[in-house]
Amino acid sequence: MNRVCPICNCNLKDVRYVKYGNHINSKKKFILEVVYVLIFFFLPKSFFNKYKIPRRITKSIWFGSKIILCRKCGSGHIDKIPSSNELNMWYNTSAGAVLFYKDRLRKITERDESQYKYVRKFVKLGCIDKSLEFGAGEAGLSRKLCLNHPKILTETVDISEKSNEQLRNHSCIDNVEKSIVVGKKYDLIVCSHVLHMVNDMPSIFGQLVRALTKGGYMFIEIPNCNDLYLDLDFEDYSFNYFLQKSSILELIKFYGLELIDVQYLGITWHEVLNGVKQTNMYSTSSNASLIRFLIKK
Ligand SMILES: [Zn+2]
Repeated sequence: MNRVCPICNCNLKDVRYVKYGNHINSKKKFILEVVYVLIFFFLPKSFFNKYKIPRRITKSIWFGSKIILCRKCGSGHIDKIPSSNELNMWYNTSAGAVLFYKDRLRKITERDESQYKYVRKFVKLGCIDKSLEFGAGEAGLSRKLCLNHPKILTETVDISEKSNEQLRNHSCIDNVEKSIVVGKKYDLIVCSHVLHMVNDMPSIFGQLVRALTKGGYMFIEIPNCNDLYLDLDFEDYSFNYFLQKSSILELIKFYGLELIDVQYLGITWHEVLNGVKQTNMYSTSSNASLIRFLIKK
């Protein structure tokens, strides 16, 4: 097998991998996954649009995959990343789209407030003309920007038509798109919990860097999928890439960007496994479950 790390481009010799959703190779988990995959296979696909199919069944698009890990940069990626059609099914049905059974957007959350304060600390928001929230979902941070800085022209991009419909009908977002519009430029790009979920992360990251104006800022928040996360027996989330601090630092170096700030935040992975409630507190632990970056072009 001759693979290259999609993040740092190094040759992945003597690949280290863990099984998706079953890091310790438990037999019980394996049998359950086979059952879910069989149900998924035999269920007519139209059911996924009509009924609320449990997420564990739709997750079959990942079951049986391996997470291939790069020993150099610590990034992981799924060996068989689901196709665009499969990801569309995930994001446009009840499995992935949080909004599916709601008829209006949730309020601005503590997480949105915390992200807003963080961005405001480093970026003069009065000088921002255009912002883009990529993989916007409910676009909490962009809606907060709309409310506090009406002069900013806010745009969002999301693969989920359900999310886009909600944003068009119930929010102050100026423009809602399904994919990145080539040629448009933004002074601020927000990527909150999305880079690890797209099906071609390095290409998407490149497109976002090209869409930034010179001197523009990018805010990134990702789960911190470090060695501890991969060693513990997690039911993996719907990720295609398993990134950590070093992964984003590699991309920053590759594109000649400037790291303005990086912070660990939230509870640790041990606490996540024990069901502790997530927080937005900054953390000194490199085993915290979240990381936040501010980058400048
Ligand atoms: Zn790598």
